[in-house]
Amino acid sequence: TQAHIDAMAKHRDLNAYITETPDLALTQADAADAALKAGDAGAMAGIPIGMKDLFCTEGVLTTAASHILDGFKPQYESTVSANLKKAGAVTLGKTNLDEFAMGSSNETSYYGPVKNPWKRTGDTTDLVPGGSSGGSAAAVSGRLAMAATGTDTGGSIRQPAAFTGIVGLKPTYGRCSRWGVVAFASSLDQAGPMTRTVRDAAIMLGAMAGFDPKDSTSANIPVPDFEAALSGDVRGLKVGIPAEYRPEGLNAEIDAVWQKGIQMLKDAGATPVDISLPHTKYALPTYYIVAPAECSSNLARYDGVRFGLRVTEGVRSLDDMYMKTRGEGFGKEVRRRILIGTYALSAGYYDAYYLKAQKVRALIAQDFRKAFEVCDVILTPTAPSAAFELGAEIDDPITMYLNDVFTVPTSLAGLPGLSLPVDLSAEGLPLGLQLIGRPFDEETVLRVGDVME
Ligand code: GLN
Repeated sequence: TQAHIDAMAKHRDLNAYITETPDLALTQADAADAALKAGDAGAMAGIPIGMKDLFCTEGVLTTAASHILDGFKPQYESTVSANLKKAGAVTLGKTNLDEFAMGSSNETSYYGPVKNPWKRTGDTTDLVPGGSSGGSAAAVSGRLAMAATGTDTGGSIRQPAAFTGIVGLKPTYGRCSRWGVVAFASSLDQAGPMTRTVRDAAIMLGAMAGFDPKDSTSANIPVPDFEAALSGDVRGLKVGIPAEYRPEGLNAEIDAVWQKGIQMLKDAGATPVDISLPHTKYALPTYYIVAPAECSSNLARYDGVRFGLRVTEGVRSLDDMYMKTRGEGFGKEVRRRILIGTYALSAGYYDAYYLKAQKVRALIAQDFRKAFEVCDVILTPTAPSAAFELGAEIDDPITMYLNDVFTVPTSLAGLPGLSLPVDLSAEGLPLGLQLIGRPFDEETVLRVGDVME
């Protein structure tokens, strides 16, 4: 823990943490030490981790990287962070993210962008760590934490994991409780581990997951021993390769790493099978209706009365206070999404946009159900490129949204998705692949990932 606290102080330029809690960490480390000596230690005893600043932590500033949550110290602990504490994990601090987890580059944070610890060979240009869990990814990749929590609504665990050369797992929707996680799009949000190895992800997921009566969408399904699933044997397994994930103009290096992954699994005795997910091309537009619609509803609670920031200067009425607080408190991307969402949900447009998107979402889920009749796991690229330069895409929302093209379908279908580093680009940057599994079959996804590591 002390070594990580020192590393955090040394690498503040990465901006991976919004709040550091070294004193709390050392107290927790002592407690873990005592538990280990008493032979009564949990699975995460003494492991120093970063906590994405979207998880409410009792008495510790929780910002969601938004100005509107200024000074918010929750009186309660999220179920996932409480589970991790119970398992003995040590929390080093709260990691940076895109504001309310909306973004793919960690540049929409009120607390400033995070830098990717990786750089191109022979180049000093700063690159993005991906997003929205960019602080968690940079912390794990830069050795400022042994592991970190992330949340993934459309790719926010997997894409930053790919950009920083680490492992990231979005579990099946409902596997981890959403209670106490600041809500973005409730039908999509899911917490998961970001780690250095697949084995670490298996151990950490075991500590995070479980039924929670406080979250009505939490699944009442037993949590298996994920680590025990890492048998090293994938012989006879059928690996689906979806044709639709090779769009025209696919980056040649991404295609090459995908082929490499297929070959690795063949060598290990698995069989690739061609599959089709015909509604893939509608996933991104569907997501960018559903997610903003849910966000516009979830973010209505920030009224300047109950949480954080309240603008009072020059305010003439209650409505005026709402408007000034929300106008000042939310950043540009969050305001854009609230506008899209309220538009899509408004009378007269609801059927044309929101209802239509829900129908397409059902078709996307059906594509996966059919595909899993002929394969056990699906292998795809995680992201369409390696990490890009800071500032390169932030002014072009459509280009930014395209980062999620391979991760969003899994989110809409609620399936587990694992990203793991497989190769380096010619410029020396990490490239990741994604493994998608059947609902609640994180075990197969982890077992295959472990073999590819
Ligand atoms: N990049 C996507 C978005 O901006 C996904 C974010 C996420 O998964 N939280 O919505």
